[in-house]
Amino acid sequence: MQMTTGRFRRVFVANRGEIAVRIIRACKDLGIETVIGVSAADRDTLGARLADRAICIGPAAAKASYLNADALIAAARGTGCDAIHPGYGFLSERAGFQRLCVEAGMAFIGPSADAIEKMGDKITAIAMARRAGVPIVPGKEKISSAEELLQAIGDVGLPCLIKATAGGGGRGMRVVRELAAAEAAFKSAQAEALAAFGDGTLYLEKYISRARHIEIQVLADHHGNVCHLFERDCTVQRRHQKLIEEAPSAVLAPATRTAMAEAALALTRAAGYTNAGTVEFVYDIDSDRFYFLEMNTRVQVEHPVTEMITGIDIVREQIRIAAGERLSFSQDQVRIDGAAIECRINAEDATRGFQPIPGLITTWSPPAQTGVRLDTHCYAGYRVPPYYDSMIAKVIVRAPTREAAIEQMNRYLDGFHVEGITTTIPFQRRVITHRGFAAADVTTTWVEDELLREAAETV
Ligand code: ADP
Ligand code: ADP
Ligand code: MG
Repeated sequence: MQMTTGRFRRVFVANRGEIAVRIIRACKDLGIETVIGVSAADRDTLGARLADRAICIGPAAAKASYLNADALIAAARGTGCDAIHPGYGFLSERAGFQRLCVEAGMAFIGPSADAIEKMGDKITAIAMARRAGVPIVPGKEKISSAEELLQAIGDVGLPCLIKATAGGGGRGMRVVRELAAAEAAFKSAQAEALAAFGDGTLYLEKYISRARHIEIQVLADHHGNVCHLFERDCTVQRRHQKLIEEAPSAVLAPATRTAMAEAALALTRAAGYTNAGTVEFVYDIDSDRFYFLEMNTRVQVEHPVTEMITGIDIVREQIRIAAGERLSFSQDQVRIDGAAIECRINAEDATRGFQPIPGLITTWSPPAQTGVRLDTHCYAGYRVPPYYDSMIAKVIVRAPTREAAIEQMNRYLDGFHVEGITTTIPFQRRVITHRGFAAADVTTTWVEDELLREAAETV
């Protein structure tokens, strides 16, 4: 049992970057002390300065530090923490890490190991969704050889999508548009999945050609309360990775929104799920139908857009839930107020294939603008290390309308000056000022198929 009663006194942050800062802030709001485990390359990160204590848990390489469960558990125990927040990425979706926390007498701020396990394997998750009456993408089939793939394509039809059962971060996925390309796609997907997850198991689903990515945020406590916080639209992607997210979605009809939220709640209940989670769907623009993709059993990168339109602090709720408290709100109190947009800012050069550009930040000068939230671990004089994800900040705006939010975002990004490293700020400005984005007339492949091609033509 992971649930404890009573408030936590000290929480261990088992992550880095902006999400570590975000977790520390939520703990401060709740009057809880924090200890952060940092790698040798992260001693100067903002999280290390803001936490009550920073402990070095290993060398720069993530394998030896942020993925080193034993070192993290030892540091948390040794500093008298009563709970661990895993953030996103790293160990956040490892059932074994959850179990180690609990065995060491600490609460894991997230779902049970059982729920992580069930949702971590996409085939198991899909089976559970089907039983809960949630629509799933047609033609789900496990494939273990190129021959099986050809057979499955016979049933599913083209185009189709090869995916990894252990997948995440858009890796191990290949679209197959013609039979001749199937075998090569199978081999490269398998190799990528093996390298990324140590598991090359693949499955096939029908490829939705004109798709949007829409997901539902859920929160559930240990007292049977299960609520949703409406949707986020994460359609603006590159290589199946999210770049910009917004809430609410500009394209969902009210009836579809309700049906999607009900489906997410049904799955959450069927899984006996607790804490924060996200049920992801692919939405077929042409048929107005949605299908279950996966459930992410952790806080999501893009959670702030939901916080901005609902006024609910998701990380604070996560901590309260893990401490055995009830959700601080009921479903009928959750309202959508205005429109929020988030731009992920990466230390990358968008004009050179989004190549990471780490290094010393010499100028870091975000504008002072009301209604805008900047989630970051960076500051002037901070050196962005080359070892980790290249996201350095998230800019989140909220305004009464989507139009006004776009306008605010543009103004903020225009005034946001960063020097010393190259960032995706100019690229994000191009996206949000594009007529296609303004009209919400985009699909998950729009950035690659249109925006980047237009840019290449104008160079
Ligand atoms: P989201 O929907 O929240 O963006 P992603 O699947 O893109 O979810 O992953 C969230 C973040 O965690 C991304 O920044 C990604 O690079 C990172 N991430 C995903 N898997 C891992 C992992 N195994 N180790 C470290 N970071 C990871
Ligand atoms: P990951 O674990 O890598 O996040 P997902 O299953 O969530 O994998 O898919 C990532 C992205 O790939 C989605 O956001 C969507 O853009 C695209 N995608 C996934 N499945 C399909 C599909 N069947 N048809 C079209 N696009 C899809
Ligand atoms: Mg996903």
